[in-house]
Amino acid sequence: MVQYNKVTPAVIEALKGIVGEKYVITDGEKMLPYSHDEVTDSRYHHMPEVVVLPQTAQEIAEIVKLANRELIPIVPRGAGTGLACGAVPVYGGIVLSLERMNRILEINTDSLYMVVEPGVRTDDVQNAAREVGLFYAGDPCSGDSCFIGGNVATNAGGNRAVKYGTTRDQVYSIEVVTPRGDIVTLGGRLEKVTTGYRLDQLIIGSEGTLGIITKITLKLMPLPQHVVDLLAVFPDIDTAIGLVPKLIKAGITPTCVEFMDNVTIRSVERFLNEKLPHSENGHYVIVQVEGENEDDLDNKSVLLDELCTEHGALSVLVADPKKIWRARKSFAEAVRHESLIQAKEDIVVPVDQIPAMMREIAALSEKYGLATRTASHAGDGNIHLNILKGDMPDGEWDAKLDAFQHELYKCVYRLGGKLSGEHGIGYKRKQLMQEFTDPVELEMMRAIKKALDPNLILNPGKIFDV
Ligand SMILES: Cc1cc2nc3c(=O)[nH]c(=O)nc-3n(C[C@H](O)[C@H](O)[C@H](O)COP(=O)(O)OP(=O)(O)OC[C@H]3O[C@@H](n4cnc5c(N)ncnc54)[C@H](O)[C@@H]3O)c2cc1C
Repeated sequence: MVQYNKVTPAVIEALKGIVGEKYVITDGEKMLPYSHDEVTDSRYHHMPEVVVLPQTAQEIAEIVKLANRELIPIVPRGAGTGLACGAVPVYGGIVLSLERMNRILEINTDSLYMVVEPGVRTDDVQNAAREVGLFYAGDPCSGDSCFIGGNVATNAGGNRAVKYGTTRDQVYSIEVVTPRGDIVTLGGRLEKVTTGYRLDQLIIGSEGTLGIITKITLKLMPLPQHVVDLLAVFPDIDTAIGLVPKLIKAGITPTCVEFMDNVTIRSVERFLNEKLPHSENGHYVIVQVEGENEDDLDNKSVLLDELCTEHGALSVLVADPKKIWRARKSFAEAVRHESLIQAKEDIVVPVDQIPAMMREIAALSEKYGLATRTASHAGDGNIHLNILKGDMPDGEWDAKLDAFQHELYKCVYRLGGKLSGEHGIGYKRKQLMQEFTDPVELEMMRAIKKALDPNLILNPGKIFDV
């Protein structure tokens, strides 16, 4: 491992010279929010030595060159809503916050694109597109707080990935400050390209380890005019989740297919203090579909209704979109309300293996006596499994969680799945990454990291160790 140098008073002065005195934070209390993301277990928190808030790619390039000269780690940070400790400075050093780079630079309504800085909130991207009658398809549940740059860095998914793909599918090009401090634009406003390696796609999802994203050109599309949200309620998890592969095959191309189990629905109900339909015994599958016109939407809704009913739904309702999506998006907060410490797993398996995976989760939960809550982007095989610590003593929790996770991921990989569908590996899943990834694949990743970041200064200690 590299022996990094400490941030000295001379380095602080140099940083002030680059971004201005006001935008260099060294006060302990003010740096505290930058020591963690949304992972609440304090064992994953680490203080930075300094936080800098640059406003341009040129300033960032100068900071990166300084960090290379001084051998000091740099951790890029968006809004800090991550769930993998990707933005946590595990070796101290510099946290580089993108929060001041928050401008929408251009919206082109003729050619359907938007150019943004990385610190724009995702909801603001969606709203700005909607205001001109257009649509930005990326839709993570944290949209009201996360930044678009963080979404690109983690390849965020979300609700609409079933139809529109993840963040990488919404991006035309990115401007990046490389780990050596060069500024480069990767990708282009092109519908197809085979011109060397797709380095834009390599940086997207690399969790701030291969470059700092400073500008993004996003794809826009016409705003869907005919949309309906259906709520199908099922008597048990097996029947509910068994519907998902059938839905995907039915040729309806849903926009979203979300699943919530009954304990989770009741947890959300308590948190919101609001009655939700069939919360006594129902498990939810929420399906959103878009139609070309009213008739097309009606036909799809009827087909969906038939499919759900044939498959054993207790009830199929047209949902109030505000209410149902508020319930779905409150999942994380509701669970946190129940137990401050939880393990948030982000399993992804082939869609046809979701039923088998859910059965395994139920069996493990019972075997280890650990309470679980599940909500899933079921249409793309992504299961958010929260394992609750509650008031279990630390030692017992650590031992049980470790055993649970090992059995869980053995099953995930046996079913053809992977560790994370959208939250990333960060620092939190690094050991599991080492354990479950093909050593050849890991070595290829390490070779790329070493080639692009020879001094290993950009977000070290994340995804894998070099
Ligand atoms: C309630 C809740 C719901 C969520 N729902 C979803 C969901 O539906 N789908 C989903 O995918 N995620 C979800 N998340 C996780 C999180 O919001 C996403 O991972 C999001 O993309 C992180 O964005 P951020 O701006 O907060 O990034 P941060 O947490 O600040 O950083 C995340 C990672 O990206 C890197 N990074 C950030 N900005 C840049 C940049 N400009 N250049 C290079 N690297 C950078 C950081 O170093 C870090 O490794 C949810 C989180 C919460 C708390």
